[in-house]
Amino acid sequence: MTRKERFQFCINYFEEHFPIAETELEYKNPYQLLVAVILSAQCTDKRVNLTTPAIFQKYPSAKELSEASFEELFPYIKSISYPNNKTKHLIGMAQMLINNFGGEVPMTVEELMKLPGVGRKTANVITSVVDKQPNMAVDTHVFRVAARIGLTVNAKTPLATEKQLIAFIPKELIHKAHHWLILHGRYICVARNPKCGECGLKPACKYYNTVIKKKIAEKTKL
Ligand code: SF4
Repeated sequence: MTRKERFQFCINYFEEHFPIAETELEYKNPYQLLVAVILSAQCTDKRVNLTTPAIFQKYPSAKELSEASFEELFPYIKSISYPNNKTKHLIGMAQMLINNFGGEVPMTVEELMKLPGVGRKTANVITSVVDKQPNMAVDTHVFRVAARIGLTVNAKTPLATEKQLIAFIPKELIHKAHHWLILHGRYICVARNPKCGECGLKPACKYYNTVIKKKIAEKTKL
């Protein structure tokens, strides 16, 4: 199978089985999504979703959050990974939104990346989820799944993965493909023991058709 065919197989599969693919973070507007995505670094979406309702109630917009002190905000975040940094980032982010962006979340990757706590991955998530821009956020799941299937080849960094993926996926599907790969990595193609038996991508998967099939053949011989 060529790489183009692999992509086409995966796109067809996901389109058929997961026509709707969305973030599992709960949010009602771009500000809330930005807060949730900053909090989600090295933390599960479930844990973030337990934490954000109280934050959004106390700080309903960037204005209120920009006026929060570290001591006020920290207790809301302390159950999440890296609470010190995330508390500082959230306050700094809100202050920059107020001072530089009229209190609104900007919608370009370049502008977003100026905000404290916002790297390329977060900026790609915000612009693709809110504005359906053809930006591919590469997290650990996307990186692993794309490499296993063979959608990427020798991609050593998230940026290399991002570039290879967007070169093959039709523009209008990129915002969805990000969620397809994340959710597939979270629930099926998990890091330690991928659930290949349950996976509909087997015919197109390089890892399955080389490593896993070989293992199965060796076991059968025994
Ligand atoms: S066949 Fe296995 S390795 Fe390949 S994508 Fe599916 S779960 Fe992952």
